[in-house]
Amino acid sequence: MCSAPRPLGFDQRHLLGIEGLQPWAIQDLLDRADGYVDLNRSPDKKRPLLKGLTQINLFFEPSTRTQTSFELAGKRLSADVVNMSVRSSAVKKGETLIDTAMTLNAMHPDVLVVRHQDSGAVALLARHVNCAVVNAGDGQHEHPTQALLDALTIRRRKGRLAGLTVAICGDVLHSRVARSNLLLLSAMGARTRVVAPPTLLPTDVHLYGCEVFHDMERGLEGVDIVMMLRLQLERMEGAFFPSVREYFRLFGLSHEKLARAKPDALVMHPGPMNRGVEIDGLIADDIERSAILEQVELGVAVRMGVLEVLTRELRGER
Ligand code: ASP
Repeated sequence: MCSAPRPLGFDQRHLLGIEGLQPWAIQDLLDRADGYVDLNRSPDKKRPLLKGLTQINLFFEPSTRTQTSFELAGKRLSADVVNMSVRSSAVKKGETLIDTAMTLNAMHPDVLVVRHQDSGAVALLARHVNCAVVNAGDGQHEHPTQALLDALTIRRRKGRLAGLTVAICGDVLHSRVARSNLLLLSAMGARTRVVAPPTLLPTDVHLYGCEVFHDMERGLEGVDIVMMLRLQLERMEGAFFPSVREYFRLFGLSHEKLARAKPDALVMHPGPMNRGVEIDGLIADDIERSAILEQVELGVAVRMGVLEVLTRELRGER
């Protein structure tokens, strides 16, 4: 009996999360994204790949880097890109998520990039439209393109993902970035740790196959990558830690704590950063240690790679 042939690359209609993606699909996305890095550094950044296609960025939550990054990605590939933010949409007037999706769908977009404050909202919307949907962050659930750009940053700096030890530190509980990264990194053979106070960890964190630390110095011991997370105060009701000053003392990334990691450990942060809360601003700005701006740069390449694979059929490519 012969087994089914292994698909050659990313083969899904939407990108709703990292969950369920096979390592070869992740690899394919990373390779394609890598191919756009040099283009983005050159003076002529435009390619005709998505000419004639329409991309709508529908953001129900504010965003600086993700929305700009998707917009640039679409424009560099020659798509017609429209940005819709909640403030200018009918949602404020009571239109439901599904109505909004169906209204936009009637205008024949080819790709919808959606950010929403509720976990699962993007997958729900995807069931009501007939174009490709990209999850640009849904509640506390997933942010797949962030995990991909983080992986590309690590792979370019360290030459690999497999075998590295990555510590994800801070507000894991509210972080879709942490969740997508845990899924991606373990799928690609990296070892993961989470470092956080017990109040800022999901109760099911052990399901992600990571080691759990409540002491930052121990959690950073010998790691290759220190990934800091923003304290998501807007998602907190009640007290999760005594004070911001106390939080920085115990869980903020300082030079002393970073000294526990490998001497060439890379510091990352998805942004936006709270300087002096989860990270010392001097570390964030230290180009020897911090890859934070590189993450932003590679974000555009990753989104170009994602747009390329999701429109493959439309463009008649197999
Ligand atoms: N920008 C990331 C996100 O949208 C991380 C953060 O907001 O802290 O999830």
